[in-house]
Formats: sequence, C-alpha cells, structure tokens
Amino acid sequence: MILSMKKLIIFLLLVVIAIGISVFLFPAKFGASHALDRTAPELTVELVKSPAYAVKISARDELTSLTDLKLEAVQNGKSISLPAEEYLHGENASLSITYPPKKISENLKEGEVTLNVSISDSSYWKNSATQSLSFTIDKRSPRLDILSQQHRMFAGGSELVVYTVREENLAETGVLLGDMTFCAVPLNTFSGFEDASSTIYVSLFAAPLDMTGKDFSPHAYAKDSYGNTTKLPLRMRYDPKKVPEASPSISRNFLERKIPPLLEESTLDYPDAFTTATAAEDTDDETWISYFKTINEKYRLTLRNSLKSILTDGTRCTPLIPTEQMTRPLQGSLMSGFGEQRYYKYNGADAGFSVHEGFDLASVRNDDVVATGSGTVLLAEEFGIYGNAVLIDHGLGLSSLYGHLSSIQVEVGQKVQEGQKIAQSGETGLAGGDHLHFELRVGFVPVTPIEWWDPKWFTDNITGKLSSFAKKSDEETTSEEAQ
Ligand SMILES: [Zn+2]
Repeated sequence: MILSMKKLIIFLLLVVIAIGISVFLFPAKFGASHALDRTAPELTVELVKSPAYAVKISARDELTSLTDLKLEAVQNGKSISLPAEEYLHGENASLSITYPPKKISENLKEGEVTLNVSISDSSYWKNSATQSLSFTIDKRSPRLDILSQQHRMFAGGSELVVYTVREENLAETGVLLGDMTFCAVPLNTFSGFEDASSTIYVSLFAAPLDMTGKDFSPHAYAKDSYGNTTKLPLRMRYDPKKVPEASPSISRNFLERKIPPLLEESTLDYPDAFTTATAAEDTDDETWISYFKTINEKYRLTLRNSLKSILTDGTRCTPLIPTEQMTRPLQGSLMSGFGEQRYYKYNGADAGFSVHEGFDLASVRNDDVVATGSGTVLLAEEFGIYGNAVLIDHGLGLSSLYGHLSSIQVEVGQKVQEGQKIAQSGETGLAGGDHLHFELRVGFVPVTPIEWWDPKWFTDNITGKLSSFAKKSDEETTSEEAQ
C-alpha cells in the first residue's frame, strides 16, 4: 500500500515535470507566455527621408502582443507626448509603421528635437524597449522669387523661367503645369555662368498644343524635404491654338511595303499569312486596316512610352548645353504641320487616328541631316515606326528626335555640336517617301521648333534671358516683398 502510494507520487511528479517542460518549450500553446516572457520586444527607430522626413518604427515580440507604444518628444528641455494609440490595436506581436511627418511638425516647434520611442509587451513582466532619435524640424516653406519677366506664350510653345529659391533642405524645384512637372537646374551649373548666385534656378516648360486657356496655369514651385511647398503663379498671356487636322490617304502599295515588317518587329500581331509570298495580296481591305491600326496606334503608343521613360527620367535634368543658335536639321521644304491630328483613310474607309508630334522636312533623297543644337546622343538605332532614329538631349529637358533616316553617323553617348552632320534622310519606318521626321520636346511635351529656329526668339527668350541674370549678386536677387 505504502509502496503503491510512493509510486503514485513519483508518477504525479513526473507528469508535473513533463507539463512544466512542455510549457517551457511551447509556452504559447499552453497560454503561459504571459508569465514566462522575460525578454523585451525588439525595437528599431529610424529617420527616413523620402518623400519627407518621417520616422520609421518597427517592433516585434517573441511571445506576447505589443502594447503601450509611446512617442515622447523632448524639445528645449520640454517633454511633449505625440499621439500613437491608433497604431497599436488587437493582439499584434509585430508593428511596422512610418510615423507621419505632419504629426511631428503639428505638435512641435522648429529646431532640434529628440524623439524617445518606447514599446512594451503584454506579459506579466511588461518588458519594454526604448529607442531615441535626434533630428531637426523645418516648418518653413521654401522662399521663391521669380526673376524673369514672362510675357506671352503660345500653345505648343516653350518658355524659360529664371527664379531664386532659398531653402536649406531643398528636395525638388521646377515648374508645374496641369499634371506635368518640368525640372529646374541651378544657373551656376551652366557653362559660362559659374559666377551666378547659387540660389538662381532655371526651368524650361512647354504648353501642349491642345492646352486650353482655362487649363493654362503655370506655377514655379519648390518643396523641401519635410514636404513644405511654395508655389508661385507665372503670370503671362496665353494664346491657345486650333489644332490642325488632316486626312491622309494610304495606298495598298504602302501597306504591303511597310506593314508586314513592322508587325513582325512590333511582336504585337504577326499573322502567319505573311510568311507566304502571295499572302499580302490575299489579305482583304478590312484586315489591312486592322493591321495598319495595330502599327499606327498600338505600336506607336508602345514607342511613345519608351520615349517617355527616356525623356522624363528625373536624373536627366542637366544644364542647358550652350549654343549660339539652333538650326533647321534639313534644308528642305516643310511637308506637314506640327501637331496635326491625322484621320487616315484607306479606299475611302476610316483607317484610324494619330497625332503627328513633329515636323516633316523633305529635300533630295538621302540628304544630310544635322543636329538642331548641341547636345548628347541618347538613342541612335532602329526605333519602330520612326525607322532609324537619333535622339539628342540638349539639356534642361529639351530634346530633338530625327526619324526615317537611311543611315546614322553618331552613337549613343556622343557629344554633338549644333549643325554637325548626324545622319542622312530616308524612308525607314512608317514613311511613305524620303523625308525627315523631326520632333522637338520639352520634357515629354512636343513643341514647335519654329520658335527655336528663329534667331530673335532664341536671343530674347534663351541666351539673353540667361545672361541678364548671370551677373546678379545674391543681394540683388533678393526681393523684400512678402510672398
Ligand atoms: Zn513625320
């Protein structure tokens, strides 16, 4: 009897030990975490700079959920607690948030601040972790002053703006128009303008040909790294334009010559039919129209998108490459207007639509094509419907494109001078005859080159404007008027 009692006690002891070990090894399963959790949560706090200063807080606890997130800011010896309750809810054991800069700036003053972030676990022991971060709060918006006089702008035209920005933590500056942003570059980074004040910025912007007077509302802007933004309207007269229209006819011969190779290259839709010699002849009108639309609309869009990603790459805003003037790339006659809306016809039927974003210039076959201005070659290759093409970056977001070339003499990365021979005209791509397709763009907006080729416009609006501000000292560029 005594022996079996002893056995029972030993057995019960073993059971208790086994439970104890299991609870120790797998506490969460037995609901015992609250008592056993003796480690504090892991906590990291860091300052992130994009898009503005913000505090990134990450925390996690091994065994229990997180609780008691506290943000205490110490500024000039005073302690201020920042709202944090909303970021912790439920039984979460991990947390990853970006604390909004607005909440920091709303509750604190300008200047140095130390932020103490603490968090606890929900165990019996309330283990807690604390991390601190010191930084400066900037609540002042950048100060902007427009220096250049703006007078009048046409739809499809270009405009140079010179202005000063005063801001220690400048993140972004340029011109806003509609949903477009045009970059800006400090004037003292332009060759020949090294002595200009470092507060002077230059931006080039453009009004799309189809922009109405109601939508035309350009602003110079500057944003600091805290998100404080200043915008100033650029007041000037604006002349909208009636967009030109045309209805070119396409021929069967043109379709048979141009469409099959472009379809194949585009990889959008290459009918097996074209692999046989008589296939083109066997294709009916309706099918030809659909192939033409694939190339003229879908493939054009794909190519425009690649062009856009090259031209609106934010890192590409470089100083304007100095030049005395800009020149016509081909000495020939103008074949078609800029910005024409083309409604194509095939045997009288509607064959689709496209906007002609450039100028067509024609002279003799394989005539010399020269660079319209000095710059750097961004692209020199076969480029879909543009055929063999060259794209030149002139700085400050201005670029020129030359299409349908028969041969190219420049390579990517090469520096070219205004008037330098770069290629020969041709009829590659979607061209019906030998001509040069020429586009000039500011950012991604096609602009009329007529302004840039006019020596008086070029002096008044570009070179003259720049040199009139180059010599100004810091004091002279400061206007005392309030914003
Ligand atoms: Zn063209």
